This record gives sequence, C-alpha cells and structure tokens, in this order.
Amino acid sequence: MRAVSDQKLNKIEGIKAEKDPFDIAKEIARFASEGWEAIPDDDKERLKWRGVFFRKQTPGHFMMRLRSSNGLMNSEQFRVIARISDEFGPGHVDITTRQQIQLRGVAIDRVEDIWRSLEDVGLHSRQTGMDNVRGVMGCPAAGLTPKELFDASAVVRQFDEIIVGNREFTNLPRKFNVTITGCCENCTHGEAQDISLTPAFKEMGGEKIKGFNVAVGGKMGSGGYTVATPLDVFVLPEEAAELCANITRVFRDNGSRGNRKKNRLAFLIQEWGAEKFRTELENRTGSPLVTAGEDARDKKAKNPHVGIFRQKEAGLNYAGLVVPVGRITSRQLSEAARLADDYGSGDIRLTPSQNIIIAGIPDARVGDFTQEPLLKELRYDPPEVIRGMVSCTGIDYCHFATIETKEHAIELGKQLENQVGQTLPVTIHWSGCPNACGNHAAADIGLLGKKARRGKEVVDAVDVFLKGKTGPDSKVPQRLLENVPCDELPELLSRVVPYITRK
Ligand code: SF4
Repeated sequence: MRAVSDQKLNKIEGIKAEKDPFDIAKEIARFASEGWEAIPDDDKERLKWRGVFFRKQTPGHFMMRLRSSNGLMNSEQFRVIARISDEFGPGHVDITTRQQIQLRGVAIDRVEDIWRSLEDVGLHSRQTGMDNVRGVMGCPAAGLTPKELFDASAVVRQFDEIIVGNREFTNLPRKFNVTITGCCENCTHGEAQDISLTPAFKEMGGEKIKGFNVAVGGKMGSGGYTVATPLDVFVLPEEAAELCANITRVFRDNGSRGNRKKNRLAFLIQEWGAEKFRTELENRTGSPLVTAGEDARDKKAKNPHVGIFRQKEAGLNYAGLVVPVGRITSRQLSEAARLADDYGSGDIRLTPSQNIIIAGIPDARVGDFTQEPLLKELRYDPPEVIRGMVSCTGIDYCHFATIETKEHAIELGKQLENQVGQTLPVTIHWSGCPNACGNHAAADIGLLGKKARRGKEVVDAVDVFLKGKTGPDSKVPQRLLENVPCDELPELLSRVVPYITRK
C-alpha cells in the first residue's frame, strides 16, 4: 500500500477521514428539517456518496444521480422517474453519457420520499458521485444484438452487486469508471475508462473460448483523454467481476491521495507501467493471469444503436430513439413507458449517446410503432448530424461549465440539418469544460467550451477537435481551431461535416 505519510493528502481525504461519507444518509432527516442553507460544506461533499449533489447554479435545488447498471431499465421505472420529476422537479431529467439519469431540482426535504419511491421499483442513487465506482457501463443492446460475442450484462450486474453498499469500495482515491461489454460494435467508449473489458477469444484446452481482454487507466478528464493501456490479460466471463474488484482494490490501496487532478488510475499506470500493475494484480488475485486473447471487436464498427434493428430472437426488433442532447421530459418518459409496454417487452435501455432503446417489438408491429407521435420528437431515423449529437450538462446545472452547451447543441443540430441534410455518419460531442463529460475527445468533431473575446464582447465559444476515437484504433483528437464563437459554428461546420467520415 502507498504510504499515506509520503503524500500531502487532498481536502476530500480529510473530509472522508473525519466522518465516513457513506453514513451521510442517516443525517438526511436533520438536513431536511434544518433546511439546505444549514448543511455544512463538508456534508455537501459527503452527500455525493449518496447521489445528492448541491448545485451552485440552483441553490436549494439538488441534482440526484440514479445508478443504472448497463443502462438497463424498464417501463415501470420510467413512470416513477416521470412522476418524481413532475412532482419534485422541473418536469425533465437528463440521460448522461454513462447511461445514468440525473434528476433535477430536488429539494432536500424530498430526498427521503424520492429514495423510497425509487427503491419500490429497484432504483437508487448510491455511490454515484465522488470517490466511488460509478454506474457500470455496458452495451445498451446487450442480449438483443446479434453483433455481440455474448451478453455481458450479467457480468456488469455481478460487479455492481460486489460494489454497491460495500464499504470496501467507498473510499477510493478518486472516481472510478468501468465498462464491461460483449458487443463488437464499440459503443461504450471503453478506452476512456479506468477498466475496460472488451470481447475476445482465447484458445484454451483446444477450444476457442469467449471472454474479455482487459485494459486499464483510460480517462477523459484530469488533463485530457488517455487511452486505456492493455494489460495483456484475458478473463472468462464468470471470473470477470472478481477481476474488476481486484483491479479496484489495487487502485484503492496504491493510487495517489494527493492532488485530485492527478490521481485517477491513469497516473498510477503511468508511474508503474502495465507490467508492474499486472504483477500486483496477479499477487492480489492469487493465481497466474491468462495472457490476452484475440480481439473480437469489429475495427470499423461504431454503432450508436439508433434506428430499428433486428434482435437475435427471430421476429423481434429493438428501436433506438434519439433523445436530443439527453434531455427528456416527464411526458416523454411516460409515453416511452407506454410504447415499451404496448409494443415491446417493457424493457427500456439508456445508451452512452444519451438516447433510449425500446426492446422486444414484433415484426408485425414495427410499422405502427414508427407512426407513434412520440417518434416525431424522439426520432429513430434522424439525419446523422442529429443522430451523432451529444452534449454534457452545461452551465444551466453544472458549476464547472464555462458555457451553455445543450441549447447550443440543439441549435447547431437544427442548422446543420437544414444546411447539410443527410451525410455519412458523424459524431459531434460538446463538453462545457475540460472535465469532458460530453466525451468530446471521442468524437469526429469535438467541441470544448470556453469564453472568448469577439471585439469588445465576451461570448460562448469552443475549441474544435477533429477525429477523436475510442474503440480498437483509439486516437486522441487534434485541436483544429481555438476560440470559435458558438454562433459561428453552424456556418463553419456546414463546410466541415461533409468531409468527415469514419472511413
Ligand atoms: Fe459540467 Fe464540465 Fe462535465 Fe460539462 S464537462 S457536465 S461542464 S463538469
């Protein structure tokens, strides 16, 4: 274990040492009766362990982040989220690029009521902020798509079950992002995660066995996109959740607890190298690790799962619907729930592109389904400039933001749709600050918000990045332009987009 005395511990470590943030739920009733103004700043930080986030932009109105495993949800859960948002919030919620839902406008005296309502339908907000393993990502079409090597959602669930409510994992040096996927179409940005499990084959005992290759130390924020380092490890699905737990333990015990800008797993990998990390992991696991297998991913594929797709099961389809910039109203949530029940299996999934999937639609009902009014708002067949648009929260609700993002993104999408119409697939991702929640570094066109001067005016602007990529040929993007005012983007990008393809 890294000697604590060698480090100047960061402020959050002091907050954790003074009182276990995981116990903060016990104080919610007192916070509710005393009012949000009386909550000490340190307790506001601790509340994030329970998924309750003070927002400087909306004092008194907290954000609550729900934990979804693999983005798997259902119609009943959507209805409850819609009701909560109507009763206690602004009537909309946001879907994040980690397949989670963020409730807005939550008053502290309603938190316990909301938790109870969530628990009734199998949802909760635990360990969705700060130094925890965040909601574990997986392919949103897991178990549906014929393009997967195998359905890995059970492994996601097993890992989540090890982590959630387990104090062994609630005091990591920093946040910890994990994706586990058996899909060959590269939809989860695994290479930007602390742990990335991707589908692979391995010859074992004369047989070709399915499992995962393992990479570690990817990130988007904390100094920019770092592509995860392959560990030269293959793991069987039944052993994968425990391997992820052991990787997390190695980070917990050896990651820096100093400067929070430099204490993601990526920095430990940089310091140690992959070989030393692998040896440490082997010691922790107690048996030799198997070397990496043959990568099963399709190098050319990048499937955001938007459109109508055939499922593995004959006669059934899943529909990926674009939720513009991930913001969905309570009416749309309720209506999506109705469609999921009326046409499908009630199964709804959240995607890393901030969209939803409705699963289990029989062939004979696809025609009627596509005529439903909701599909005029949440389209299954939008032009590519809309299909590939992703945006982080931005200044409305995030105090790190330098600019508004979602409105600019919607406006840009509309204008590009008018100006360039149908194009080859293109992704355009917005982040409002270098924390990079919009995954701008993983897009064909990445937009990173900043303020810039135009004459005497200070305006919302972006730096423009080109050709960032996750997947088998991951690439850190080039910064093409700096300080481009947001209102000049439609004109500029209408000339760039036609030349951007994934070929
Ligand atoms: Fe907030 Fe920055 Fe993340 Fe956008 S990228 S949600 S502005 S922290």
